[in-house]
Amino acid sequence: MPKKPLIFYALIVMAVMLFFNLIAVPKMMQAQVIETDYGTFMDMTEEGDVGIVEVQTNQILFTDKDEQRIYKTGLMPDDGLTERLHDSGARFGSVIVEETSPLLSFVLSWVLPIVVFAALGYFMNRQLMKRAGGGSGAMSFGKSNAKIYVKSTTGIRFSDVAGEDEAKENLMEIVDYLHNPKKYSSIGASMPKGILLVGPPGTGKTMLAKAVAGESGVPFFSISGSEFVEMFVGMGASKVRDLFKQAKEKAPCIVFIDEIDAIGKKRDGQFSGNDEREQTLNQLLTEMDGFEGNNGVIILAATNRPESLDPALTRPGRFDRRVPVELPDLKGREEILKVHARKIAAEPNIDYNVIARMASGASGAELANIVNEAALRAVRSGRDKVAQSDLEESVEVVIAGYQKKNAILTDTERRVVAYHEIGHALVSALQSHTAPVQKITIIPRTSGALGYTMQVEEGNRYLMSREELVEQIATLTGGRAAEEVACGTITTGASNDIEKATKLARAMITQYGMSEDFDMVALETVHNQYLGGDASLACSPEMQAEIDRQVIELVKAQHQKARRLLSENREKLDRLADYLYEKETITGAEFMKILNES
Ligand code: ADP
Repeated sequence: MPKKPLIFYALIVMAVMLFFNLIAVPKMMQAQVIETDYGTFMDMTEEGDVGIVEVQTNQILFTDKDEQRIYKTGLMPDDGLTERLHDSGARFGSVIVEETSPLLSFVLSWVLPIVVFAALGYFMNRQLMKRAGGGSGAMSFGKSNAKIYVKSTTGIRFSDVAGEDEAKENLMEIVDYLHNPKKYSSIGASMPKGILLVGPPGTGKTMLAKAVAGESGVPFFSISGSEFVEMFVGMGASKVRDLFKQAKEKAPCIVFIDEIDAIGKKRDGQFSGNDEREQTLNQLLTEMDGFEGNNGVIILAATNRPESLDPALTRPGRFDRRVPVELPDLKGREEILKVHARKIAAEPNIDYNVIARMASGASGAELANIVNEAALRAVRSGRDKVAQSDLEESVEVVIAGYQKKNAILTDTERRVVAYHEIGHALVSALQSHTAPVQKITIIPRTSGALGYTMQVEEGNRYLMSREELVEQIATLTGGRAAEEVACGTITTGASNDIEKATKLARAMITQYGMSEDFDMVALETVHNQYLGGDASLACSPEMQAEIDRQVIELVKAQHQKARRLLSENREKLDRLADYLYEKETITGAEFMKILNES
């Protein structure tokens, strides 16, 4: 329900009061007396229609002949009235106006409004409670709002989680324990109380936790770390207590705390510390100590910032097992694609290996998205099955955004972009440690790229040699080099390349120990390895200046090499750029064919 301002309720109250006191109650009480004008009274007297009449000090009350209706009218100076009335046959007496019973009038004017107020108050109170505590009554502050999934509702099994074999193997043991705890207790082994799933976003941590519950068929409590953090100090702690109470009642069961870093951050002891968070964390630590191992409550938690967790939380006896859930490798990506492709209607001959290779570095969630984008694309083009081309195009959509159909580039701009892209591809192809070119295109994308060259590794890469990194830098500078060699100018199109080349060169020198001067000294430390991996320098200012000098030297040397390679192959550069300019998109095979001609 949208929030309504208090004035809204105040207005309702006033309207109800007005209605009862001014309009409804007086109306009801006087319903029997009909008010008429003096002329009607005179006419009725003349026609002999008046039954009983009573002249009061400020008004005249009278009835009709049958004494069915009571009328009332004002007083007028009227001399012969008494005689006329007498002549008409009216009787003088008292007209009894039947007052509404005092009880009814009391009920109408007092009890009813109070009942209405009380109902309104109750309703408002409920709304406020809902907003504040998430419970139904006034005592529900601090109740945990963990969602319970039981076997039938999650339905996720290990077979739905593709790749991640090590993580699955690790968690399989937990499932086995929940099925057969005696096997473990008889030998004296106790299960870990807590298991921490760590890895980049979208790699299936939540899914794995649900799969453990799905496989073992036990209740599954799921709550996000941020839900513990409340407005009032102490509320989070009471939620933790409540969660563990519920879990113990339902044991054996699994409690899953997503984004545990929201409450489990290191306590830094600074004055500005967040009291509420610390209390919540303390409570969590106490609860985890408090219950015995082997009582059937298994706590799973997920985070993508393991280094920020409090050491007390990760020590043995609490979260004593850490399960890495990494980005999938080539085989994993292929399997994930296949798992998600089961849900869509696809043509039978699709080569998922090609798609998996193109989507290098993609997480499980991104791969699921790629499959869905492909299905949407098939619908858009009026087909009833997803084809290979849909999947290939949707990889590009996820990497670079949608095609910008109506971006208007001038002829010269298009030519420069064609040279730029061929520059990358050619420099890459003329070196020996680079990945083959898969596709080159100069169709602008919504991400802002005016074109791109896609290079795809053949298999998995776990190690990169110095030569490969250096050649990657050369390839990145190839675009700008082609502009210089062929167009005699330089453009802003290289900004992204410049950023990437600099980052790579800097990492080679400060993290990978690939410069002769610094040997194997770490000059930078990486934070948040799962969230982009920012690095911060850890060295003296003089050293920083030296690092900058070496980075420039490294990139400059590779840029020169790229320019030399392109100048030596000027004729091929022109031919390929012309071809790309004509076609807009060319495949790696077409590129290699022209390159190897003559
Ligand atoms: P996390 O908790 O690690 O951020 P989730 O478990 O919420 O990621 O995954 C998000 C979605 O990504 C899932 O719903 C699923 O569709 C997809 N996904 C991620 N990893 C996998 C995987 N290994 N196998 C199949 N689907 C996956």
